[in-house]
Amino acid sequence: MHITHVATEFSPFAKAGGLGDVIHGLSRQQVKDGHTVSVILPKYDIIDIKFFEAIEIYVQDLWTYEDGVEFHNTVYKTSFEDITIYLIEPHHNCYYFNRGLIYGAMNDTERFLYFSRTATEFLNNEKQKPHILHLHDWPTAAMVPLIRFLTPQLNAEIKSLIFNVHNMEHQGRIHPKYLSRIGLNGADFLSKERMQDPVKPEMINLLKGAITYSDQVVTVSPTYAQEIKTPEFSFGLTQTVEKFKSKLHGILNGIEIDTWNPKTDQYISHKYPANSTFIHDIIRNKELNKKALFKELGLAPKINGPLVICITRIASQKAPELILHALKQVNELGGTFILLGSICEPQLEKDFHQAKAVYKNHPNIHLCFEFKEDLAHKLFAAADAIFIPSKFEPCGLTQIISMRYGTVPIGRNTGGLKDTITDISKPLSTGFIFNDLAKIQVDKALEKAFDLYANHPSKWQSLIQNGMNRDASWAPAAALYEKIYTCGDKLKIAK
Ligand code: ADP
Repeated sequence: MHITHVATEFSPFAKAGGLGDVIHGLSRQQVKDGHTVSVILPKYDIIDIKFFEAIEIYVQDLWTYEDGVEFHNTVYKTSFEDITIYLIEPHHNCYYFNRGLIYGAMNDTERFLYFSRTATEFLNNEKQKPHILHLHDWPTAAMVPLIRFLTPQLNAEIKSLIFNVHNMEHQGRIHPKYLSRIGLNGADFLSKERMQDPVKPEMINLLKGAITYSDQVVTVSPTYAQEIKTPEFSFGLTQTVEKFKSKLHGILNGIEIDTWNPKTDQYISHKYPANSTFIHDIIRNKELNKKALFKELGLAPKINGPLVICITRIASQKAPELILHALKQVNELGGTFILLGSICEPQLEKDFHQAKAVYKNHPNIHLCFEFKEDLAHKLFAAADAIFIPSKFEPCGLTQIISMRYGTVPIGRNTGGLKDTITDISKPLSTGFIFNDLAKIQVDKALEKAFDLYANHPSKWQSLIQNGMNRDASWAPAAALYEKIYTCGDKLKIAK
């Protein structure tokens, strides 16, 4: 099959969070499974072309449309681990992708609507259309109605149009005029059956449009696929999800096991096999990595309690108040806490910067608010436990990466955390699960973990071993995606 993904992230050269890992890992597995895979991305200025062996201009002048004006774009072609990568560079007076970031510009809506229209033009001009077009999250959601209503040839040639919801919170609620800017008459789509936002009826909802008009909708864990049918998790789209539930699937993400491999990880000094039979090597080398890390970060060298980490976007989804609570608790229980977090919501800056000031030069607490790939790898390799209290978690990758690195997850009972962490009370347990977003529950979970770590080392070892024994690879998920690519009839659109 010829599969094309359109996305806004790709690890390692354009990563802001889990989406980058997913696009890389899934495409790579699909290549291994014998498919021809390409990925279309914006050519952000932050992409370091040193990642590519060669890069060529594939289309010098790709014309696209925005608000009554034609703009031209250059499309670059390169390849990464046998995945063909197309990078779209607009020649536009708004410098859409020259902002030194992936998300967080003032005009993200216009940036990604422009990208959606241009990627659609690109595919429409290609002689060989993909069999499967696989789109990811709100920034590419507009492509679904664009293809259905503006490019009949492309629509006819694609065998299946798949839309992945990686996070239901971000829906792309826009004024109808923004849809008109990219060539669809916004007013025409402002109805309940089409793309009208159920919460703000004067707005268009891009995610609703993608769910409505795609052939199949996939979200990233079975539990989250159930959760988004409820008001608590659907962010207003309960009825839409209910209406289209027959084409909704939940497929648990994997991780790219060559990238996330403690045996070959370029960022860690003491490598160890991701194989539970070598438990003594694992424990010894994790301790050595911990020692090196503490030295690097200026933390106290010798502690008795475990090292607990948290690697996350700092956003309300991730229960930031519980992260701040946990770092105090871990310290009180005699452990070390390291937070590596990118602050994504301005209202959270104050609390987190205040905490950083309070714990400045603290021997057992370290807070870093940058996006640091190398530090993330070092933390996974050195830590004893990872703390993930999310309010909701579509899948979550940090618990999966952690288990591969022998780091025990302590997470909340939601979404993909529920699907991947087996609580200590159960057979073949891999970690600790707590139910409610309550400090008391966090305290209990941490106390249980600290007790097991200090007093029952062989049980702690079993947690590490069980976690490492899970199949974290993309192979099972890619097989399920393949089934979905070919299931069901293609959607027929009544214009
Ligand atoms: P989400 O996609 O919601 O941000 P996931 O758990 O699915 O969360 O994926 C997060 C990915 O981003 C992981 O690979 C994690 O290691 C990485 N990550 C998150 N924050 C940082 C950071 N500040 N520095 C480096 N890597 C980070």
